[in-house]
Amino acid sequence: MKAAIFKGPGKIDVENIPNLSPSKGEVIVRFRAGSICGTDLHFYRGEWSGLRAGQVIGHDACGELLDTGVRVAMVPVVYCGLCWYCLQGLFNHCENGGIKGFDYDGFFSEYVVVPERNILPIPENVSDEEAAVLEPVALAIHTLDMLNPRIHDWVAIIGQGSIGLLMTQIAKLKGCRVIAIDMLDYRLKLSERFGADFYINAQYENSASRVMEITGRGSDIVIEAAGTRQAVEQTLLLARKAGKIALVGGFEGYLDLGVVGEVKLFTSYISPVEYPLALRLIAERKVDVKNLITHRFKLAEFKQAIEIANNLLEKPVRVVVTAY
Ligand SMILES: [Zn+2]
Ligand SMILES: [Zn+2]
Repeated sequence: MKAAIFKGPGKIDVENIPNLSPSKGEVIVRFRAGSICGTDLHFYRGEWSGLRAGQVIGHDACGELLDTGVRVAMVPVVYCGLCWYCLQGLFNHCENGGIKGFDYDGFFSEYVVVPERNILPIPENVSDEEAAVLEPVALAIHTLDMLNPRIHDWVAIIGQGSIGLLMTQIAKLKGCRVIAIDMLDYRLKLSERFGADFYINAQYENSASRVMEITGRGSDIVIEAAGTRQAVEQTLLLARKAGKIALVGGFEGYLDLGVVGEVKLFTSYISPVEYPLALRLIAERKVDVKNLITHRFKLAEFKQAIEIANNLLEKPVRVVVTAY
């Protein structure tokens, strides 16, 4: 079967690999559609280690069960259900688990083997390509639940790629006011479409003074979804005193905690708990993932797909790859 194999920074090839045989409690899913995430790009650019050479890349995809043909979304977080963390419901910190596309072979493969509990039937009105953009929805729900905003809170979101744009949508669903920040106008246009109350192009405006001007005291909540050191370091300059900050895209950088009083700091990782709700919100048209999709490729063209996803001149947001 064909799969997109990570060979090292800048090198991904679609190659034939041996067919898989499922163990007890696992099912075989025939890949239908997947999307390329910022994390995949961090691996591709060699910014993050973690994905080993020879591994299949990808952690956001759907397919159909090989035996019944039922369409299913796949949850990439593998967990044992028995360790201390699992028993607390913190499945993403399982002592015996990991994430497909990071710790284990990922989803960009003609066939994927996953534990039976890692599949979710896709509602009829959700297309394959929509079910291929599930992870950033689940991550946005997880992050906003963690931050527990009040109605009408200011939420400043640095980075309006697919993850940031979904943070914008979920924050609006929670009744917050959103200040969207990015350096690219085509992304800020989408922020506006998804309900952002203000948007700042950080290339031309000073985000910290604009956020201060808009809010009067700094943002109640700041979410970093750009995945850069500068964005991480900027979070403290946007938050009000005793505000909350979540780091989602990147975790490296120097935080001078002396500049903000009583700040609450969160880091947020992909978790399986929010996947059913994410899929339901897409089915009920409360969350729009369709308009995040800017490019479409076939699995055999994966190399080209990730090159486009990595090239801002092509104005990518979410690049989808399908089997057909
Ligand atoms: Zn991701
Ligand atoms: Zn566990």
